[in-house]
Amino acid sequence: MRFWQRIATALRLRCPRCRNGQLFTGLLSMNDVCPRCELKLEPESGFYLGSAYANYAEAER
Ligand SMILES: [Zn+2]
Repeated sequence: MRFWQRIATALRLRCPRCRNGQLFTGLLSMNDVCPRCELKLEPESGFYLGSAYANYAEAER
């Protein structure tokens, strides 16, 4: 996939794999899986753990 195709897919809020399924069902509610190709869109457990470490270290200054 070319760079501009990826940008267009992201701007249209479509699935990164099939480029057809909608990522959002409403203004702030996101699908758990893609309605077309069933790609799991939910982040894995521990996804935010690295950023939590960085935020905690920064908050303790
Ligand atoms: Zn999809």
